Amino acid sequence: MTSAKIWRKMPEYYELVGKECEKCGALFFPARPICKKCGSSKLQDHKLEGQGVIKTFTIIRTPIAGDDVLEKIICEIPYALAIVQLSEGPCLTAQIVDCEADEVVIGKNVEVVFRKVFESGRKGAICYGYKFRLSE
Ligand SMILES: [Zn+2]
Repeated sequence: MTSAKIWRKMPEYYELVGKECEKCGALFFPARPICKKCGSSKLQDHKLEGQGVIKTFTIIRTPIAGDDVLEKIICEIPYALAIVQLSEGPCLTAQIVDCEADEVVIGKNVEVVFRKVFESGRKGAICYGYKFRLSE
């Protein structure tokens, strides 16, 4: 990922900011320029609370190759990758952290955390962003 794209995505990655349609109230994450429910282009930023529930998940058990990979994803193997439905409605894909992979269960509540997501080589950009952990 380029530095420019990282810069553009900072509101999403750092603060979980999506878009809310000013006409029909639909919420979207990630942000989009046009409402897919009513077609309006009048959307405003909407910061999501970061609470949600695991709708489904998979366990990743194959590590990414070593130094020849330009963009290295920061995670320990195995890890859980889940579809999380936020309390406001939108769904997103995110890693579940701070637990063993076998603790991840469909229907469990999760909350957002801010973590290192990937780095572009040894001297490249480091990108931070959202992941989720189990909550009460
Ligand atoms: Zn709309």
